[in-house]
Amino acid sequence: MRDVIVAANWKMHTTPADAGDLASTVASRTREAGVTRVICPPYVALAAVRDALAETDPDVAVGAQNVHHELAGAHTGEIAAPMLAGLASWVIVGHSERRRDAAETDELIGRKLARALEAGLRPILCVGEQLAEREAGRATDVVDAQLRGALADHDPAAAASGRLVIAYEPVWAIGTGRNATGADASAMADAIRASLGALGWGETADATPILYGGSVTSANIGEFLAEPSIDGALVGGASLKPDEMAGIVARAGITARARGLAG
Ligand code: PEP
Repeated sequence: MRDVIVAANWKMHTTPADAGDLASTVASRTREAGVTRVICPPYVALAAVRDALAETDPDVAVGAQNVHHELAGAHTGEIAAPMLAGLASWVIVGHSERRRDAAETDELIGRKLARALEAGLRPILCVGEQLAEREAGRATDVVDAQLRGALADHDPAAAASGRLVIAYEPVWAIGTGRNATGADASAMADAIRASLGALGWGETADATPILYGGSVTSANIGEFLAEPSIDGALVGGASLKPDEMAGIVARAGITARARGLAG
């Protein structure tokens, strides 16, 4: 049975001075059996969030929002996977804002994924199409190409043992208040598992959790979690609001109980 996961992407928000309090508040308001919770603050707030969660709720995992594709070297301003030891146990790779801002390619994202898995970080690999690509009927092809580009060189067994998670995040839905429909997200989740199957993932394709991300709120999370193929959410803007996170994780708890994960 796949995990039910709610991951918070705080993007470029919070400071070391205020991140710990926010993490504690969110943690204390989202205790739901069977739901895996992850908070991904900016790098500089990782230690503050780790320390706060150790006090409030050690069940909440800490994640980074990015990792470099090399292990060390002359890469000013970058963070390598081994540097995250003791700070984070998860990492987001391939977020569309990094594809946009840092021109990350699928091949580069695949190398980041490899460094994450080698370091024992649980990766959330983000994929998703642009609006024009969806309107042209190419959404599935675009996501398939992203998966092939990032995963072609990966041994499925290694990715499975690293418990890879995939987040389907249509770019036009991120931070726009315009979410996909549950049906569209579910169709894409099926397509993603078909792509993994075509890459030789076998049963691992079905065991891989797939999250939806893109303007998720407490009001619309139910639409996504009603779909058996969707295993949770990657939440941006709403993840900075404790009331929203309480509602989102409460709804995820219903799914976890229905899937027999809560006991
Ligand atoms: C995200 O940051 O991955 C995201 C989906 O953002 P938002 O929820 O704000 O759309």
